[in-house]
Amino acid sequence: MSVRDLVRENIRRLRPYSSARKEFTGVARIFLDANENSFGSPLPQALNRYPDPFQLEIKRAIAPAFGVSVDQMFVGNGSDEAIDLLFRIFCEPRRDSVVVCPPTYGMYEVSADINDIAVRAAPLTDDFQLDPAAIANVAEGAKLLFICSPNNPTGNAFAPETIAGIARNFSGITVVDEAYADFSEQPSMIDRIGEIPNLVVLRTFSKAWGLAGLRVGMAFANEEIIALFNSVKPPYNVSEIAQRAILDAIANRDEVENFVRAILDERASIAAALETFGFVERIYPSDANFLLVRVDEADAIYNFLLAEGIVVRNRNSVELCESCLRITVGTPAQNAELIAALGRYQQI
Ligand SMILES: *Cc1c(COP(=O)(O)O)cnc(C)c1O
Repeated sequence: MSVRDLVRENIRRLRPYSSARKEFTGVARIFLDANENSFGSPLPQALNRYPDPFQLEIKRAIAPAFGVSVDQMFVGNGSDEAIDLLFRIFCEPRRDSVVVCPPTYGMYEVSADINDIAVRAAPLTDDFQLDPAAIANVAEGAKLLFICSPNNPTGNAFAPETIAGIARNFSGITVVDEAYADFSEQPSMIDRIGEIPNLVVLRTFSKAWGLAGLRVGMAFANEEIIALFNSVKPPYNVSEIAQRAILDAIANRDEVENFVRAILDERASIAAALETFGFVERIYPSDANFLLVRVDEADAIYNFLLAEGIVVRNRNSVELCESCLRITVGTPAQNAELIAALGRYQQI
C-alpha cells in the first residue's frame, strides 16, 4: 500500500497556493510582501500581520512530548478541520467510501455527507468493542476508516494492539480519533505512526485542555500525509490569537494535569452517586470525561433535567445506546446539582 495511490487525482496534481509568509522564511526588517496594514491594528494586541501558516512555534513546543518531529504534526481549526481535510485529500466525491464503527462521533458521517462520500458501517459489538470481522467485511476499497478511542459516546478505549491489527489489514487510511486520550490510561497510537504508514491520529485542545472556544486540533501521521494536509489546508488556518493562546496554555501544562485529575475524581464520585438510583440500569466504564448511563426512561429523565436547567446528551435514538444518557463530568458544584435533581426525579 502506498499513501500516494490513495490520494485523489486532483490533489496529486495540485500546486499548493504559495502565500507571502510561506515563500519568505528568513529574517527581515521590513515586511511589504503581504498587503497587510503596516500601521498596526485598532487593538492592544498587534494583529495586523498574518500568522505563521505552519504554526512552527506550537509544533516545536509539542512535538517532543509526543515523540514526533514537527513534520509529523498538523495543527488545524479544531480536529474537525483535520477530519474534513482527510476527505478532501483522499476521497473522490460520489465514488469513494469510508468506514465508521457506530455508535461513534457523528462528525465523520456529516463530513462524508458534505463531501458526497458513501459511509459503510461496521458497528461495535454489544459490549462496545471493535469488530475486526465486521470491519473486514465492509472495508474493501474504502479510503478511510474512523476509529474513535476513547469512543464517543460509549466512553471506552480500544486496545492499541486491536487498532494496530485492524490498521495493518486495511488498505486505506486508518484515522484514530484520540480526542479523549488525556483521560485514558491506554498508550496513544501516536507511538505507532512510524511503524504504520497508513495511520493518522487526531488530538484536540477542546477537551482536557479546556480550550474548546479556541478551535485548535492536531493530527499526527508520517511526513508524507502531513505534507498533504499542509498543501490542502487554507494557508492561514489557525489565527494569531489562537496560536498565542496555545503557547500560553502549553506553558501552563500543570493546570491541565490538575484538571484531568479533578475530572477523573469527579467521574468516580458521580458514578458512585448514580449507582444508588433505582432508575439507573447500567453505568458503562469510561476512559473519557463523560459517563454513558443506561436508565429506565431516558427521554423522561432528559426532559426532567432540562426543566431543571440541566442539559445532558440524550442518546436514546442511537443504535446500541437505546435508553442511554451521556453525561459530561462537571465541577463538584454542578455534579451535586445534577445528583440532587436526579434525587427529585426519583421521588416522582
Ligand atoms: C469533541 C470531539 C472532538 C473535538 O473536535 P474539535 O473540532 O477539535 O473541537 C473530536 N472528536 C471527538 C470524538 C470528539 O468527541
